[in-house]
Amino acid sequence: MENLGVLMTCPMTPSYLEEELDKKCKLFRWWESSNKKEFLKENSNSIQAIVGPNVGADAETIDALPNLEIVSTFSVGFDKIDLGKCRERGIRVTNTPDVLTDDVADLAIGLILATLRRICESDRYVRNGLWMKKGDFKVTAKFTGKSVGIVGLGRIGSAIAKRAEAFSCPISYYSRSEKPDSKFKYYSSILDLAANCQILVVACPLTKETHHIINREVIEALGPKGVLVNIGRGPLVDEPELVSALIEGRLGGAGLDVFEHEPEPPEQLFELDNVVLLPHVGSGTWETRKDMADLVIGNLEAHVLKKPLLTPVV
Ligand code: NAP
Repeated sequence: MENLGVLMTCPMTPSYLEEELDKKCKLFRWWESSNKKEFLKENSNSIQAIVGPNVGADAETIDALPNLEIVSTFSVGFDKIDLGKCRERGIRVTNTPDVLTDDVADLAIGLILATLRRICESDRYVRNGLWMKKGDFKVTAKFTGKSVGIVGLGRIGSAIAKRAEAFSCPISYYSRSEKPDSKFKYYSSILDLAANCQILVVACPLTKETHHIINREVIEALGPKGVLVNIGRGPLVDEPELVSALIEGRLGGAGLDVFEHEPEPPEQLFELDNVVLLPHVGSGTWETRKDMADLVIGNLEAHVLKKPLLTPVV
């Protein structure tokens, strides 16, 4: 591995992956350069691998690296990697599935509870001394027993379903195909799913087909008592539509870990108490980030040793 030139696109939290790559490979820290294009030009022949959290492998970057062999993303999603270009050039692509599933599913349940039970708003109520000044906090909405609709019953969607079942929630889902092994109700239309659940959780990948899959019609179908939770990717939701539905009371609430333009969520959301906003932390625990980093390194090692990749995408 010591001869493998690895371009790391940005620093990652925690720094474990960067430290390990620094020990094992020739590490190029892209973010440290003030002129990224020039940096690529200067080092283009020495870079065989790109590592990053779902960034940095667009067509332009790939074209600038004639010796690129592998893109190893520190995420399960690969929506920012030009897979077509990688296939064309014979560049391998790996991601980090499974190891983050539990954390993301846990967080989805956390978002549901926080949104319905207004946990963050209650916390602000206590901190701001309002409990003392104004008395009891308002009553909120129950989670146990509410119907949960899942968009994308894959690894994470299934883990969310398993957890929601423990809250006695009837589960249904939408995806491109019915899962023959699933006992949950399948809707072949996302509109029907939204019209028939109280909490809609988005857990599918971002692709051309799923961009803005949560549009005005879906939001209307979910309705003024419905709650939307997005732990997938920001652009799965038409954000201006979401914001206006929340402001106008056409949607009951939202729990969001991801946004269309990160790290800049729409400021109108900051004023709303029926939303819970998180800074894209679905996989953000020490344990999982270490497992993800080890998987990235394992894939790079397998590539260098010409062994089968651990989690290949391409
Ligand atoms: P997965 O196992 O591949 O599951 C994806 C599911 O989405 C599958 O059930 C798939 O079913 C469905 N799907 C794919 N295309 C669809 C479409 N056009 N319409 C409807 N459903 C579609 O992936 P995963 O590991 O669960 O991860 C899911 C996503 O979560 C990732 O792609 C990533 O973007 C996001 N994620 C977010 C965080 C975070 O920090 N917030 C962390 C990890 C992952 P069909 O093939 O039957 O359609």
